[in-house]
Amino acid sequence: MKWILLILLTTSVHAAWQAGAAKADITPTESVPLAGYGGKTRMSQRVEHAIWLKALALKDASGATSVLVTADLVGLSDKMIAVIDKNALEKHGVARERLILNSSHNHSCPVTEDVLWLYYEFTPEEAAAKDRYTAMVYAKYDEVIGKAIASLAPSELAFEQGLAGVAVNRRRSRGPESRAFGGQVDQDVPVITVKAGNDLKAIVFGYSCHTTALGGLSINGDYAGFAQLNLEKLFPGSVAMFVQNCGGDANPLPRIRGKNTDTEATSLASKYGDILAEAVRQVIVGTLKPLNGPIRVAIGETELELQPGIPLDELKQRVPNLTGMPKREFEHFIRQYETFGSTPDRVKYPVQVWRFGPDFTFIALTGETVVDYSLKFKAAYGWNNTWVCGYNNDLLSYVPSLRVLKEGGYEGVTGMFEYGHRAPYTETVEERITTKVEELMKATVK
Ligand SMILES: [Zn+2]
Repeated sequence: MKWILLILLTTSVHAAWQAGAAKADITPTESVPLAGYGGKTRMSQRVEHAIWLKALALKDASGATSVLVTADLVGLSDKMIAVIDKNALEKHGVARERLILNSSHNHSCPVTEDVLWLYYEFTPEEAAAKDRYTAMVYAKYDEVIGKAIASLAPSELAFEQGLAGVAVNRRRSRGPESRAFGGQVDQDVPVITVKAGNDLKAIVFGYSCHTTALGGLSINGDYAGFAQLNLEKLFPGSVAMFVQNCGGDANPLPRIRGKNTDTEATSLASKYGDILAEAVRQVIVGTLKPLNGPIRVAIGETELELQPGIPLDELKQRVPNLTGMPKREFEHFIRQYETFGSTPDRVKYPVQVWRFGPDFTFIALTGETVVDYSLKFKAAYGWNNTWVCGYNNDLLSYVPSLRVLKEGGYEGVTGMFEYGHRAPYTETVEERITTKVEELMKATVK
Protein backbone atom coordinates (compact mmCIF):
# COMPACT_ATOMS: atom_id res chain seq x y z
CA MET A 1 0.00 0.00 0.00
CA LYS A 2 2.82 2.40 0.93
CA TRP A 3 4.57 1.54 -2.33
CA ILE A 4 1.48 2.29 -4.37
CA LEU A 5 1.04 5.65 -2.67
CA LEU A 6 4.67 6.54 -3.27
CA ILE A 7 4.44 5.61 -6.94
CA LEU A 8 1.27 7.64 -7.32
CA LEU A 9 2.87 10.65 -5.63
CA THR A 10 6.04 10.39 -7.74
CA THR A 11 4.00 10.06 -10.92
CA SER A 12 1.86 13.05 -10.07
CA VAL A 13 4.92 15.24 -9.33
CA HIS A 14 6.57 14.34 -12.63
CA ALA A 15 3.36 14.69 -14.59
CA ALA A 16 2.72 18.16 -13.21
CA TRP A 17 4.61 19.97 -15.97
CA GLN A 18 5.59 19.18 -19.46
CA ALA A 19 7.88 21.79 -20.95
CA GLY A 20 9.58 22.32 -24.29
CA ALA A 21 12.04 25.01 -25.36
CA ALA A 22 13.23 25.94 -28.83
CA LYS A 23 15.05 28.68 -30.67
CA ALA A 24 15.05 29.97 -34.24
CA ASP A 25 17.78 32.09 -35.80
CA ILE A 26 16.45 35.39 -37.21
CA THR A 27 19.79 36.87 -38.26
CA PRO A 28 19.29 38.65 -41.60
CA THR A 29 21.16 37.19 -44.57
CA GLU A 30 21.55 40.51 -46.37
CA SER A 31 22.00 44.19 -45.50
CA VAL A 32 18.72 45.44 -43.98
CA PRO A 33 17.42 48.68 -42.46
CA LEU A 34 18.21 48.82 -38.75
CA ALA A 35 15.46 49.52 -36.22
CA GLY A 36 15.17 51.52 -33.06
CA TYR A 37 16.60 54.93 -33.78
CA GLY A 38 14.82 57.54 -35.92
CA GLY A 39 16.48 59.82 -38.43
CA LYS A 40 18.57 58.75 -41.39
CA THR A 41 18.06 55.12 -42.48
CA ARG A 42 20.89 52.95 -41.20
CA MET A 43 21.62 49.84 -43.26
CA SER A 44 23.32 46.96 -41.42
CA GLN A 45 26.94 46.39 -42.35
CA ARG A 46 27.92 43.31 -40.34
CA VAL A 47 26.72 40.71 -37.86
CA GLU A 48 28.24 40.90 -34.38
CA HIS A 49 26.34 37.80 -33.28
CA ALA A 50 23.17 35.97 -34.29
CA ILE A 51 19.75 37.17 -33.11
CA TRP A 52 16.95 34.83 -32.10
CA LEU A 53 13.36 34.01 -31.41
CA LYS A 54 13.02 31.65 -28.45
CA ALA A 55 9.95 29.84 -27.18
CA LEU A 56 9.01 28.04 -24.00
CA ALA A 57 5.91 25.81 -24.15
CA LEU A 58 4.37 24.77 -20.84
CA LYS A 59 1.71 22.09 -20.58
CA ASP A 60 0.27 21.80 -17.09
CA ALA A 61 -1.73 19.01 -15.45
CA SER A 62 -4.95 20.52 -16.79
CA GLY A 63 -3.70 19.70 -20.29
CA ALA A 64 -3.58 23.30 -21.51
CA THR A 65 -0.45 24.53 -23.31
CA SER A 66 0.87 28.07 -22.79
CA VAL A 67 3.69 29.53 -24.85
CA LEU A 68 6.04 32.41 -24.09
CA VAL A 69 8.05 33.71 -27.04
CA THR A 70 10.93 36.14 -26.61
CA ALA A 71 12.54 38.02 -29.48
CA ASP A 72 15.75 39.96 -30.08
CA LEU A 73 13.56 42.53 -31.84
CA VAL A 74 12.71 46.15 -31.04
CA GLY A 75 9.02 45.26 -30.75
CA LEU A 76 5.99 44.06 -32.68
CA SER A 77 3.01 45.90 -34.15
CA ASP A 78 -0.70 45.09 -34.07
CA LYS A 79 -0.40 43.90 -37.66
CA MET A 80 2.41 41.51 -36.72
CA ILE A 81 0.62 40.28 -33.60
CA ALA A 82 -2.46 39.44 -35.70
CA VAL A 83 -0.41 37.31 -38.11
CA ILE A 84 1.54 35.52 -35.36
CA ASP A 85 -1.61 34.91 -33.26
CA LYS A 86 -3.53 33.48 -36.19
CA ASN A 87 -0.75 31.03 -37.02
CA ALA A 88 -0.32 30.04 -33.36
CA LEU A 89 -4.02 29.25 -33.06
CA GLU A 90 -4.64 27.64 -36.42
CA LYS A 91 -1.42 25.66 -36.76
CA HIS A 92 -0.55 24.94 -33.14
CA GLY A 93 -3.82 25.29 -31.21
CA VAL A 94 -2.44 28.01 -28.91
CA ALA A 95 -5.18 30.44 -27.87
CA ARG A 96 -4.39 34.16 -27.61
CA GLU A 97 -4.60 34.23 -23.82
CA ARG A 98 -2.02 31.41 -23.66
CA LEU A 99 0.49 33.18 -25.89
CA ILE A 100 2.77 35.93 -24.55
CA LEU A 101 4.93 37.70 -27.14
CA ASN A 102 7.74 39.70 -25.54
CA SER A 103 10.46 41.63 -27.36
CA SER A 104 13.78 42.64 -25.84
CA HIS A 105 13.40 46.10 -27.45
CA ASN A 106 16.68 45.47 -29.22
CA HIS A 107 17.95 48.57 -31.03
CA SER A 108 20.44 46.59 -33.15
CA CYS A 109 17.93 44.47 -35.08
CA PRO A 110 16.28 44.87 -38.49
CA VAL A 111 13.07 46.82 -39.06
CA THR A 112 10.05 44.55 -39.42
CA GLU A 113 6.69 45.25 -41.07
CA ASP A 114 5.23 48.58 -39.81
CA VAL A 115 6.90 48.76 -36.38
CA LEU A 116 7.84 52.41 -35.62
CA TRP A 117 6.97 53.19 -39.23
CA LEU A 118 7.11 56.98 -38.78
CA TYR A 119 10.83 56.71 -37.97
CA TYR A 120 11.83 55.66 -41.46
CA GLU A 121 11.70 56.72 -45.07
CA PHE A 122 12.88 53.86 -47.27
CA THR A 123 13.96 53.64 -50.88
CA PRO A 124 12.10 50.88 -52.80
CA GLU A 125 15.17 48.63 -52.42
CA GLU A 126 15.36 49.22 -48.65
CA ALA A 127 11.62 48.56 -48.30
CA ALA A 128 11.98 45.32 -50.28
CA ALA A 129 14.79 44.14 -47.96
CA LYS A 130 12.60 44.97 -44.97
CA ASP A 131 9.69 42.99 -46.45
CA ARG A 132 11.86 39.95 -47.20
CA TYR A 133 13.12 40.02 -43.63
CA THR A 134 9.60 40.39 -42.19
CA ALA A 135 8.41 37.33 -44.14
CA MET A 136 11.30 35.33 -42.66
CA VAL A 137 10.42 36.48 -39.14
CA TYR A 138 6.78 35.37 -39.51
CA ALA A 139 7.94 31.93 -40.68
CA LYS A 140 10.34 31.69 -37.73
CA TYR A 141 7.62 32.56 -35.17
CA ASP A 142 5.62 29.70 -36.60
CA GLU A 143 8.66 27.39 -36.52
CA VAL A 144 9.78 28.20 -32.99
CA ILE A 145 6.29 27.81 -31.47
CA GLY A 146 5.85 24.48 -33.28
CA LYS A 147 9.27 23.21 -32.18
CA ALA A 148 8.73 24.16 -28.52
CA ILE A 149 5.40 22.32 -28.45
CA ALA A 150 6.84 19.30 -30.28
CA SER A 151 9.55 18.98 -27.61
CA LEU A 152 7.19 18.95 -24.59
CA ALA A 153 8.52 16.50 -22.00
CA PRO A 154 8.21 16.05 -18.21
CA SER A 155 9.98 18.92 -16.45
CA GLU A 156 10.32 20.84 -13.19
CA LEU A 157 10.02 24.61 -12.96
CA ALA A 158 11.53 26.87 -10.33
CA PHE A 159 11.80 30.61 -9.66
CA GLU A 160 14.06 33.01 -7.81
CA GLN A 161 15.55 36.40 -8.49
CA GLY A 162 18.86 38.16 -8.32
CA LEU A 163 20.00 41.73 -8.79
CA ALA A 164 22.16 43.54 -11.32
CA GLY A 165 23.14 47.21 -11.36
CA VAL A 166 23.30 47.95 -15.08
CA ALA A 167 19.99 49.87 -15.34
CA VAL A 168 20.01 53.60 -14.61
CA ASN A 169 16.97 55.87 -14.78
CA ARG A 170 17.74 57.57 -18.06
CA ARG A 171 15.41 60.52 -17.49
CA ARG A 172 18.13 61.97 -15.25
CA SER A 173 20.70 61.84 -18.05
CA ARG A 174 19.29 64.47 -20.40
CA GLY A 175 20.87 67.70 -19.28
CA PRO A 176 20.54 69.98 -16.25
CA GLU A 177 16.73 70.39 -16.38
CA SER A 178 16.24 66.60 -16.16
CA ARG A 179 18.19 66.29 -12.90
CA ALA A 180 14.96 67.04 -11.03
CA PHE A 181 13.51 63.74 -12.26
CA GLY A 182 13.53 60.77 -9.89
CA GLY A 183 16.05 57.97 -10.18
CA GLN A 184 13.65 55.04 -9.85
CA VAL A 185 14.92 51.72 -11.23
CA ASP A 186 14.03 48.06 -10.86
CA GLN A 187 17.27 46.10 -10.76
CA ASP A 188 15.63 42.72 -10.01
CA VAL A 189 16.65 39.85 -12.26
CA PRO A 190 13.78 37.35 -12.13
CA VAL A 191 14.72 33.83 -13.28
CA ILE A 192 12.65 30.76 -14.11
CA THR A 193 14.55 27.54 -14.67
CA VAL A 194 13.11 24.57 -16.54
CA LYS A 195 14.80 21.28 -15.74
CA ALA A 196 14.36 17.63 -16.65
CA GLY A 197 16.24 15.96 -13.79
CA ASN A 198 19.69 17.56 -13.83
CA ASP A 199 19.28 18.70 -17.38
CA LEU A 200 18.71 22.49 -17.59
CA LYS A 201 16.47 22.93 -20.62
CA ALA A 202 15.55 26.59 -20.39
CA ILE A 203 16.50 29.71 -18.47
CA VAL A 204 14.00 32.54 -18.64
CA PHE A 205 15.37 35.76 -17.18
CA GLY A 206 14.25 39.36 -17.20
CA TYR A 207 15.51 42.88 -16.61
CA SER A 208 14.03 46.39 -16.76
CA CYS A 209 16.38 48.28 -19.06
CA HIS A 210 16.48 49.49 -22.66
CA THR A 211 18.71 47.42 -24.94
CA THR A 212 20.49 50.52 -26.16
CA ALA A 213 24.10 50.02 -25.16
CA LEU A 214 24.80 49.85 -28.89
CA GLY A 215 23.81 52.09 -31.77
CA GLY A 216 26.24 51.19 -34.54
CA LEU A 217 25.67 49.38 -37.82
CA SER A 218 25.97 45.77 -36.67
CA ILE A 219 23.27 43.17 -36.05
CA ASN A 220 23.37 41.90 -32.46
CA GLY A 221 21.16 41.46 -29.40
CA ASP A 222 22.75 44.31 -27.39
CA TYR A 223 23.56 43.52 -23.72
CA ALA A 224 20.65 41.06 -23.58
CA GLY A 225 22.05 39.20 -26.59
CA PHE A 226 25.47 38.95 -24.93
CA ALA A 227 23.83 37.74 -21.68
CA GLN A 228 21.87 35.03 -23.52
CA LEU A 229 24.98 33.88 -25.42
CA ASN A 230 26.93 33.79 -22.20
CA LEU A 231 24.32 31.69 -20.36
CA GLU A 232 23.96 29.20 -23.21
CA LYS A 233 27.75 28.71 -23.09
CA LEU A 234 27.74 28.31 -19.30
CA PHE A 235 24.83 25.86 -19.41
CA PRO A 236 25.28 23.90 -22.66
CA GLY A 237 22.06 22.57 -24.14
CA SER A 238 19.89 25.20 -22.47
CA VAL A 239 17.81 27.84 -24.23
CA ALA A 240 18.37 31.20 -22.49
CA MET A 241 15.44 33.59 -23.02
CA PHE A 242 15.55 37.30 -22.19
CA VAL A 243 12.32 39.06 -21.18
CA GLN A 244 12.27 42.87 -21.30
CA ASN A 245 10.49 43.99 -18.15
CA CYS A 246 9.57 47.63 -17.43
CA GLY A 247 12.64 49.35 -18.88
CA GLY A 248 10.82 52.26 -20.54
CA ASP A 249 12.78 54.86 -18.59
CA ALA A 250 16.02 52.95 -18.00
CA ASN A 251 19.19 52.80 -20.06
CA PRO A 252 22.35 50.77 -19.56
CA LEU A 253 24.67 53.53 -18.43
CA PRO A 254 27.24 54.72 -19.13
CA ARG A 255 26.98 54.39 -22.90
CA ILE A 256 29.58 55.14 -25.54
CA ARG A 257 28.42 57.12 -28.56
CA GLY A 258 30.04 58.92 -31.46
CA LYS A 259 31.99 58.22 -34.60
CA ASN A 260 34.48 55.34 -34.59
CA THR A 261 33.35 54.12 -31.18
CA ASP A 262 31.67 50.89 -32.31
CA THR A 263 34.38 48.64 -30.85
CA GLU A 264 34.40 50.37 -27.46
CA ALA A 265 30.59 50.39 -27.31
CA THR A 266 30.45 46.68 -28.21
CA SER A 267 32.94 45.89 -25.48
CA LEU A 268 30.78 47.79 -22.97
CA ALA A 269 27.57 46.03 -24.12
CA SER A 270 29.38 42.72 -23.73
CA LYS A 271 30.39 43.68 -20.17
CA TYR A 272 26.78 44.54 -19.29
CA GLY A 273 25.79 41.16 -20.73
CA ASP A 274 28.43 39.48 -18.53
CA ILE A 275 27.06 41.24 -15.43
CA LEU A 276 23.47 40.22 -16.16
CA ALA A 277 24.48 36.64 -17.00
CA GLU A 278 26.46 36.42 -13.75
CA ALA A 279 23.40 37.58 -11.77
CA VAL A 280 21.38 34.83 -13.47
CA ARG A 281 24.11 32.22 -12.91
CA GLN A 282 24.19 33.02 -9.19
CA VAL A 283 20.44 32.46 -9.02
CA ILE A 284 20.69 29.16 -10.90
CA VAL A 285 23.40 27.67 -8.68
CA GLY A 286 21.49 28.76 -5.56
CA THR A 287 18.20 27.55 -4.15
CA LEU A 288 15.11 28.20 -6.22
CA LYS A 289 11.47 27.80 -5.19
CA PRO A 290 9.55 25.12 -7.13
CA LEU A 291 6.83 26.55 -9.37
CA ASN A 292 3.55 24.68 -9.40
CA GLY A 293 0.76 24.57 -11.93
CA PRO A 294 -1.77 24.88 -13.26
CA ILE A 295 -1.36 28.17 -15.11
CA ARG A 296 -4.59 30.13 -14.86
CA VAL A 297 -4.62 32.72 -17.62
CA ALA A 298 -6.58 35.88 -18.30
CA ILE A 299 -6.37 38.48 -21.02
CA GLY A 300 -8.20 41.79 -21.05
CA GLU A 301 -8.12 45.13 -22.74
CA THR A 302 -8.50 48.64 -21.45
CA GLU A 303 -8.43 51.92 -23.35
CA LEU A 304 -5.93 54.67 -22.71
CA GLU A 305 -7.31 58.14 -23.45
CA LEU A 306 -5.29 60.75 -25.31
CA GLN A 307 -5.33 64.49 -24.66
CA PRO A 308 -6.63 66.70 -27.50
CA GLY A 309 -4.37 66.92 -30.55
CA ILE A 310 -3.32 69.79 -32.79
CA PRO A 311 -6.25 71.19 -34.84
CA LEU A 312 -6.29 70.39 -38.57
CA ASP A 313 -5.79 73.97 -39.75
CA GLU A 314 -2.73 74.36 -37.52
CA LEU A 315 -1.26 71.06 -38.77
CA LYS A 316 -1.72 72.22 -42.37
CA GLN A 317 -0.20 75.58 -41.58
CA ARG A 318 2.89 74.13 -39.93
CA VAL A 319 3.62 71.10 -42.14
CA PRO A 320 5.34 73.01 -45.01
CA ASN A 321 8.01 74.17 -42.56
CA LEU A 322 8.84 70.62 -41.41
CA THR A 323 11.15 67.92 -42.71
CA GLY A 324 11.94 64.28 -41.84
CA MET A 325 10.11 62.55 -39.00
CA PRO A 326 8.16 65.63 -37.72
CA LYS A 327 6.83 66.12 -41.28
CA ARG A 328 5.76 62.45 -41.51
CA GLU A 329 4.04 62.75 -38.11
CA PHE A 330 2.04 65.84 -39.11
CA GLU A 331 1.10 64.32 -42.48
CA HIS A 332 -0.11 61.23 -40.59
CA PHE A 333 -2.38 63.36 -38.36
CA ILE A 334 -3.72 65.24 -41.39
CA ARG A 335 -4.53 61.88 -43.07
CA GLN A 336 -6.34 60.79 -39.89
CA TYR A 337 -8.50 63.95 -39.98
CA GLU A 338 -9.24 63.40 -43.66
CA THR A 339 -10.07 59.71 -43.20
CA PHE A 340 -11.89 59.64 -39.86
CA GLY A 341 -12.92 63.29 -39.38
CA SER A 342 -10.65 63.51 -36.34
CA THR A 343 -7.51 62.05 -34.81
CA PRO A 344 -8.25 58.98 -32.60
CA ASP A 345 -8.79 59.97 -28.96
CA ARG A 346 -7.78 56.63 -27.40
CA VAL A 347 -5.68 53.49 -27.91
CA LYS A 348 -6.35 49.87 -26.99
CA TYR A 349 -4.21 48.46 -24.21
CA PRO A 350 -4.10 44.67 -23.72
CA VAL A 351 -2.99 43.13 -20.41
CA GLN A 352 -2.24 39.46 -19.73
CA VAL A 353 -1.90 37.59 -16.44
CA TRP A 354 -0.55 34.05 -16.01
CA ARG A 355 -0.91 32.82 -12.46
CA PHE A 356 1.17 29.74 -11.62
CA GLY A 357 -0.58 27.69 -8.94
CA PRO A 358 -0.94 29.65 -5.71
CA ASP A 359 2.66 30.88 -5.62
CA PHE A 360 3.65 33.04 -8.54
CA THR A 361 2.22 35.50 -11.08
CA PHE A 362 3.49 36.73 -14.42
CA ILE A 363 1.91 40.07 -15.42
CA ALA A 364 2.44 41.03 -19.07
CA LEU A 365 1.78 44.65 -20.03
CA THR A 366 1.80 46.31 -23.44
CA GLY A 367 4.27 48.86 -24.81
CA GLU A 368 7.22 50.75 -23.41
CA THR A 369 6.18 50.51 -19.79
CA VAL A 370 8.07 52.65 -17.28
CA VAL A 371 9.52 51.23 -14.08
CA ASP A 372 6.78 52.55 -11.78
CA TYR A 373 4.43 49.80 -13.00
CA SER A 374 6.86 47.05 -12.07
CA LEU A 375 7.46 48.56 -8.62
CA LYS A 376 3.76 49.21 -8.06
CA PHE A 377 2.49 45.73 -8.94
CA LYS A 378 5.29 43.97 -7.07
CA ALA A 379 4.47 46.07 -4.00
CA ALA A 380 0.80 45.12 -4.38
CA TYR A 381 1.17 41.41 -5.16
CA GLY A 382 4.53 40.40 -3.71
CA TRP A 383 8.14 41.38 -4.32
CA ASN A 384 9.31 37.79 -4.49
CA ASN A 385 6.48 36.08 -6.35
CA THR A 386 5.46 38.57 -9.02
CA TRP A 387 7.12 39.14 -12.39
CA VAL A 388 5.99 42.26 -14.25
CA CYS A 389 7.00 42.81 -17.85
CA GLY A 390 6.19 45.42 -20.47
CA TYR A 391 7.14 45.18 -24.16
CA ASN A 392 4.48 42.61 -24.99
CA ASN A 393 2.00 42.87 -27.86
CA ASP A 394 2.10 46.12 -29.87
CA LEU A 395 5.11 48.34 -29.08
CA LEU A 396 2.38 51.06 -28.94
CA SER A 397 4.14 53.99 -27.23
CA TYR A 398 5.87 54.85 -23.99
CA VAL A 399 3.51 54.03 -21.15
CA PRO A 400 4.09 56.61 -18.41
CA SER A 401 2.90 56.36 -14.85
CA LEU A 402 0.98 59.38 -13.55
CA ARG A 403 4.25 60.61 -12.00
CA VAL A 404 6.17 60.42 -15.29
CA LEU A 405 3.26 61.97 -17.21
CA LYS A 406 3.13 64.92 -14.82
CA GLU A 407 6.91 65.37 -14.86
CA GLY A 408 6.83 65.57 -18.67
CA GLY A 409 9.85 64.79 -20.83
CA TYR A 410 10.28 62.16 -23.53
CA GLU A 411 8.66 59.10 -21.91
CA GLY A 412 5.62 61.02 -20.66
CA VAL A 413 4.95 63.65 -23.28
CA THR A 414 7.29 64.37 -26.19
CA GLY A 415 7.69 60.76 -27.35
CA MET A 416 4.03 60.32 -28.34
CA PHE A 417 4.05 61.78 -31.88
CA GLU A 418 6.66 59.37 -33.16
CA TYR A 419 4.32 56.48 -32.33
CA GLY A 420 1.57 58.16 -34.35
CA HIS A 421 -0.48 59.31 -31.35
CA ARG A 422 -1.92 62.82 -31.41
CA ALA A 423 -0.97 63.83 -27.85
CA PRO A 424 0.11 62.52 -24.42
CA TYR A 425 -2.22 60.26 -22.44
CA THR A 426 -4.64 61.84 -20.01
CA GLU A 427 -4.07 61.60 -16.26
CA THR A 428 -6.23 58.44 -16.16
CA VAL A 429 -3.44 56.34 -17.74
CA GLU A 430 -2.08 54.67 -14.60
CA GLU A 431 -5.52 54.18 -13.07
CA ARG A 432 -6.83 52.50 -16.24
CA ILE A 433 -3.95 50.03 -16.35
CA THR A 434 -4.07 49.36 -12.60
CA THR A 435 -7.81 48.64 -12.70
CA LYS A 436 -7.34 46.16 -15.54
CA VAL A 437 -4.47 44.39 -13.77
CA GLU A 438 -6.54 44.16 -10.55
CA GLU A 439 -9.46 42.71 -12.49
CA LEU A 440 -7.30 40.04 -14.16
CA MET A 441 -5.56 39.19 -10.89
CA LYS A 442 -8.97 38.51 -9.35
CA ALA A 443 -10.09 36.53 -12.41
CA THR A 444 -7.15 34.15 -12.07
CA VAL A 445 -7.66 33.33 -8.38
CA LYS A 446 -9.13 29.86 -8.10
ZN1 LIG B 1 12.26 52.59 -26.22
